[in-house]
Amino acid sequence: MKLVLLGAPGAGKGTQAELLKDTLNVVHISTGDIFREEMKNNTKLGQDIKSYVDSGNLVPDEVVTKIVANKFSKDKSLKKGWLLDGFPRTQQQAIDLDEILKKENQPLDYALYMEATLPVIIGRLTGRRICKKCGALYHDTNRRPQKNGICDVCGGPLYQRPDDNEETIKKRMDVYLESTTPIIDYYKSQKKLIWINANEDAKGVHEKLLKIFLKDKKFDQNKIVRRN
Ligand code: AMP
Repeated sequence: MKLVLLGAPGAGKGTQAELLKDTLNVVHISTGDIFREEMKNNTKLGQDIKSYVDSGNLVPDEVVTKIVANKFSKDKSLKKGWLLDGFPRTQQQAIDLDEILKKENQPLDYALYMEATLPVIIGRLTGRRICKKCGALYHDTNRRPQKNGICDVCGGPLYQRPDDNEETIKKRMDVYLESTTPIIDYYKSQKKLIWINANEDAKGVHEKLLKIFLKDKKFDQNKIVRRN
């Protein structure tokens, strides 16, 4: 399965990507995660993009697209399927992605548009906590770790993303509405758009997505790994 995940910050793209990655046995590509890793390692790229990420603005198209194109040309594991989380984010990126996929002969199956209301989004983002070591996602109230501030998976410390503060969230929402929402129509016109109400909790949304895939004739149902 080859999917693009669309939706506002806080719609739950990262959470669903992590669940779907295991269930569908595909690779999760998050441009936001790639950028955070570069910043953590203080690479040249990390230094160049930091001001954009910290302020909630978009990294220039050509920088992001080059990273995604490289990933597709070099990472052979993408042949088993992938889901793109956080890319494309502009109409230009969507056009560039089509070019990349054509070159790699990896046609997109669907763009999943996850829609959530503003209060749900704000609640998710302000409460989000992430493991510094393994990237596992938690939430202040909805998904607490067993030990306060410590990751259940690897024991690493949890932190709050610097751009998950109210002021930067507002900026990210404005950027999303202006730059990213036009892509919804782009995929609608390609007849690839699947809309999903993403206000429910993570498990509920995941089950809904699986039901959609199970009905799809293109989809090899034996590939779903069921978990409880
Ligand atoms: P995310 O983790 O997807 O919320 O992304 C965090 C930040 O990384 C965004 O607010 C942008 O500054 C930057 N970013 C991630 N993906 C993209 C993209 N496709 N285009 C431009 N900037 C991006």
